[in-house]
Amino acid sequence: MRIAAAAGFAFAGLLISSPLAAEDAARHPLLQEIAGAVSPTEMKSTITRLVGFGTRHTLSDTQSKTRGIGAARRWAASRFAEISRHCNHCLDVETPEQTVQGERIPKPAQLVDVLAIQKGQSDPARVVIISGHIDSRVTDPMNATSDAPGADDDGSGTAAVIEAARVLSKYKFPATIVYAVLSGEEQGLYGGKLLAQYAKDHQWQVEAVLNNDIIGNTNGENGATDATHVRVFSEGTKSTETPDEASRRRYNGGEVDSPSRNLARFISGIADRYVTGFNVRMVYRTDRFSRGGDQVPMLAAGFPAVRFTEAIENYTREHQDVRVQNGIQYGDLPEAIDYPYLAQVTRINAVTLAALAMAPTPPQGVKIEGAVTQDTKVSWQAVPGAAAYKVWWRDTTAPFWTNSQPAGDATSLVLKNTNIDDWFFGVSSVSADGYESPVEFPGPAGAFVPMSTLSK
Ligand SMILES: [Zn+2]
Repeated sequence: MRIAAAAGFAFAGLLISSPLAAEDAARHPLLQEIAGAVSPTEMKSTITRLVGFGTRHTLSDTQSKTRGIGAARRWAASRFAEISRHCNHCLDVETPEQTVQGERIPKPAQLVDVLAIQKGQSDPARVVIISGHIDSRVTDPMNATSDAPGADDDGSGTAAVIEAARVLSKYKFPATIVYAVLSGEEQGLYGGKLLAQYAKDHQWQVEAVLNNDIIGNTNGENGATDATHVRVFSEGTKSTETPDEASRRRYNGGEVDSPSRNLARFISGIADRYVTGFNVRMVYRTDRFSRGGDQVPMLAAGFPAVRFTEAIENYTREHQDVRVQNGIQYGDLPEAIDYPYLAQVTRINAVTLAALAMAPTPPQGVKIEGAVTQDTKVSWQAVPGAAAYKVWWRDTTAPFWTNSQPAGDATSLVLKNTNIDDWFFGVSSVSADGYESPVEFPGPAGAFVPMSTLSK
């Protein structure tokens, strides 16, 4: 939800049109079509199928054809293969695996992720990822045999990943899209760690990770309901920030402008434009309080990442043995899923992936100069596929970018009578057909791609 001026306003002698009006004009038919293609019926059939495997605990049976994590993973791979057959084999299905052991995995176990990779047409090294975890659990995290339906946690996220693949595989994009079904989340984020390693090993330039975990419930056990918002969690400063970078950032600002946070702002804008009656609630945290998800190992690897979670969770459903106690139904059962809501969250994901994959990468090497003058010079390096750039600025306490000025195809812009002390600045890149990247905040604090890997 944007909290921006509703009408044009004058600033420093320039008339700046409202961001909302500009966005209305820039609605892409392709993205509208993608939002419309997401189907709650498809997602219901995915969750029904997943619940049918009884348990999907990471340490459950891997050999059975009908029960356990092995059967569930093989089904996910076969679903991706089926989708791929409908797009002239546009998806490569990969199943990276690793033997893991740890606090919640006492004996070495085989951990397998299921990935479908839709290779980009012109910039395949540039990657955007949607993820969810297929493993499930009950009250005791070590119980690998009891029924653990995991409809919401995280059948909902897995269904979003598969639905995004079904919808987006009908189109071609400049950048690569990866659909990631992870396992081992409940035992210690193992699937996310394996994905981060896989991304590094394959030299993916990961621009965004959309992790979906618990996205299909609208009723709290306290009676609260919310079917019109989804929370998007994002870290404020980079997990990989060095002490030197932290020290400069503390001084000059950047506490709320990591690439993950600017990705969250981008997602909020997508929801405003393409998903009617539905809004993002940005949360300025990496995850829910003291809890974790598969976006965390991706952040640790230096990749911009956010977590989607429903607005109101139901704690009688999550991580519970299926039972009725004092008249209350416990357990993560499919009856509790709100499929139209789940489809709305998935629309935001699918449109965000498409918008990012169509747009150029955000500008790199963004710099600002102007201390002790009334003007601010913003400069950046050109990036492949960008036909134009746009400079953005906002009040230092504002949650969203409010002001912008096109820069054409230049790689710098001087903002006259705009004092560097008083504003936060950023730059986006725009393709010839009008797809705009997220805004990148200057310096290492905001860089989507680590400075050390920039081409000279
Ligand atoms: Zn989960």
